[in-house]
Amino acid sequence: MLLSVRGIVHSIAQTIFYWLMTCMEGASGNVMMSGHFAVSQPHNLYIGTAIQNQNKMNLGCYLQAGKIAAAVRETARKKYHVGLTLFEICESVEAQIRSLNAEPAFPVNTSLNETAAHYTAEPNDATLVKEGDVLKIDIGVHIDGYIADTAVTVCYDPKYEALVNTAEMALSEAVRIARVNTKASDIGRVIESTITKFGFKPIQNLSGHSLQQYTIHAGKSIPNIWTRGSSFSLLTNEAYAIEPFITTRDGQGVVYEGKTKNIFGVTSRKPVKNKEADDLLELIWSRYKTLPFALRWLTNKYDEKDLRRLADVLVRKKNVHAYPILVEGHSKIVVQAEHTLIPTESSVNIITL
Ligand code: MN
Ligand code: MN
Repeated sequence: MLLSVRGIVHSIAQTIFYWLMTCMEGASGNVMMSGHFAVSQPHNLYIGTAIQNQNKMNLGCYLQAGKIAAAVRETARKKYHVGLTLFEICESVEAQIRSLNAEPAFPVNTSLNETAAHYTAEPNDATLVKEGDVLKIDIGVHIDGYIADTAVTVCYDPKYEALVNTAEMALSEAVRIARVNTKASDIGRVIESTITKFGFKPIQNLSGHSLQQYTIHAGKSIPNIWTRGSSFSLLTNEAYAIEPFITTRDGQGVVYEGKTKNIFGVTSRKPVKNKEADDLLELIWSRYKTLPFALRWLTNKYDEKDLRRLADVLVRKKNVHAYPILVEGHSKIVVQAEHTLIPTESSVNIITL
């Protein structure tokens, strides 16, 4: 990958910043270094580089994926989730996506309370949504690999209403200024200032991202805070997800990797020379390519125990990456809102509106 001098300076500055932050917090090296799933960082998610030369823009597919994602998100926003299991919620959101003739771009994330992102239901996950829970439902829809990414936070305790409203407001302020040539750093500044104005804290090591065909995190990060120095400007006909994550004033404003890992993605197709594991790898590749998947998507073909054993082999051999959940540093509540947009010469398609 080519790095401009500006990019290198920025990377160094960012590294120093996070190093200082890590020292200050007395944390080990497991802080997420940058964008929510950006490609260039080791912890980041949804790496998808195996499909090359297919990054032509197909606006029609994007618009259709966006329309479906928005409809599914609005169904989720209105639904009363208390008493349902995370398994039921994930499966019903994904079923709705499929019923509209699209595919999930990643397992629906149902992250509760201090978990900011990257939790999806395990096979038969019995975790129940309770009255006081704050649930982020993060939805990806793709048509032919063109991805719309959107999220909503649902909660039924009036105590968190201001927090949730602030995430929505930060998102709409960001979307309002986002057009061709808008600097990503300006988007970060608007998000941060909206959040702090209402007395809350942005999660500073999660960010939005560019998207490409079959690639959820295509290498550019849109920060949720103002960052000094270099930035990039939005291009026409490139898709971007903007996603403020917010915590309360007593939160750390940083997420760390948790122990739980229930979202996976293929990173290498090199055979592991174990027939069963190689067959599973080929099945995963044929269905999902580099897009993330969940074990519950494979239990129709595999007994759960066998599946876990074979998935372990693929993870150990580094053919499959397991993505850890991301948890707020002070275990405080996190909320999220997200849209995907595509700037054109004269306007912007907010495809998930
Ligand atoms: Mn998302
Ligand atoms: Mn996203």
